[in-house]
Amino acid sequence: MAKIIAINAGSSSLKFKLFEMEGEKVLAQGLFDRIGISNGTIKIKYGEKEYRKEAELKDHAVAVKRLLQLLLKLGIVQDFAEIVGVGHRVVAGGEYFKKSVAVNSRIIRRINELTEYAPIHNPANLMGIEAFRKILPNAVSVAVFDTSFHQTMPKENYVYSVPYEWYHKYGARRYGAHGTSHRYVVQVAAHMMEKPLKQLKLISCHLGAGASLCAVKNGKSFDTSMGFTPLTGITMATRSGDVDVSLISFMMQKLDMHSMPEVIYDLNKKSGLLGISGISSDMRDIEAKCKTDERAQLAINIFVKDVVKYVGAYMAEMGGLDGIIFTAGIGENSGYIREKIMKRLEFLGIEVDEKANAKRGVAEFISTPTSRVAALMIPTNEELMIARDVKTIIEAKIEKEKLAPVVIKSHSN
Ligand code: ADP
Repeated sequence: MAKIIAINAGSSSLKFKLFEMEGEKVLAQGLFDRIGISNGTIKIKYGEKEYRKEAELKDHAVAVKRLLQLLLKLGIVQDFAEIVGVGHRVVAGGEYFKKSVAVNSRIIRRINELTEYAPIHNPANLMGIEAFRKILPNAVSVAVFDTSFHQTMPKENYVYSVPYEWYHKYGARRYGAHGTSHRYVVQVAAHMMEKPLKQLKLISCHLGAGASLCAVKNGKSFDTSMGFTPLTGITMATRSGDVDVSLISFMMQKLDMHSMPEVIYDLNKKSGLLGISGISSDMRDIEAKCKTDERAQLAINIFVKDVVKYVGAYMAEMGGLDGIIFTAGIGENSGYIREKIMKRLEFLGIEVDEKANAKRGVAEFISTPTSRVAALMIPTNEELMIARDVKTIIEAKIEKEKLAPVVIKSHSN
């Protein structure tokens, strides 16, 4: 039976999910961690079972080889030929990649050229792509970009108010991120709302360690809170979100730092919930302390205010709002934060269904049936979206091959 594997390769990790495409059933999922570092670990969940092992994973090629061997050894696949497609998450697709594409050497070169937009992630994604192409040369390899979904934004929503040549010559613009997640949850939302996505104005709130909001108008990304990089927008686990960039030179002087990347490192790694609270980057720890700790309370207040502010802005930009979606780690699991956000949005016509909001795990309306604007909790599934893109590309390829004219060689004398 045809199987598709979705891959998310980071600089030192490789996550995967293997799907049986008939019925979109998850056959196995797992994580290869600490690749290229000592004490690597392998975790694979399949059915009710779990496989765990420590292993030296020299590089991504070794991890991919181990993964495929284990799929056979654990009886998850009987033959590699069953894996007809491999979908790879790629972080930066620039303006070139407006949708998912089948990978060939030209595409690999392009992804490599876009490395300057994602210096850590694109090379890691490429390592995953190369490793699979070597070991499974007959499977269709597809690149799915975090940025592609946002390529539909109108120009005024992605051009920065800086000298135009910065954009024109160097590509300095808003690209956004989390596109695969936003694309998935709005499709589910439209299905749940029983309306065509093309007729809806939605705001997707992907609230994980990295967090972004996306205004989706008529099925297309209209605006999004992440920018040239994932640093901007709302407060995140350790990222600052929007700040006045003049802070960079000011703090360089104050902290006696010698290069801009040092300050930018702090904005990426020491800011956000962690920086404000001084407790943790994890919302669970902050929620646990917020009754007694003023800075934990402040971190939550800033987080909630940021989401509310962007929702207001996006509703105004779109000229209305039909639904707001919460997804990712915080959005899916914290009824407390969701309720705080929704209560502040009551004036828009959101009525919280407190009982539904207390549940977890499955997609659910968390607003009352009379709520003017719907609120939904939808678990994201980027891997499924990747697998579906692979399936679509494989089907299009088969169709094209069927339609291709048969070339008849002429035998001229
Ligand atoms: P990412 O994919 O960006 O790494 P996730 O979407 O997995 O992040 O979200 C991880 C975050 O979700 C954690 O850092 C934590 O803040 C938050 N989180 C997970 N479970 C809960 C919970 N029960 N309550 C509040 N926050 C939670």
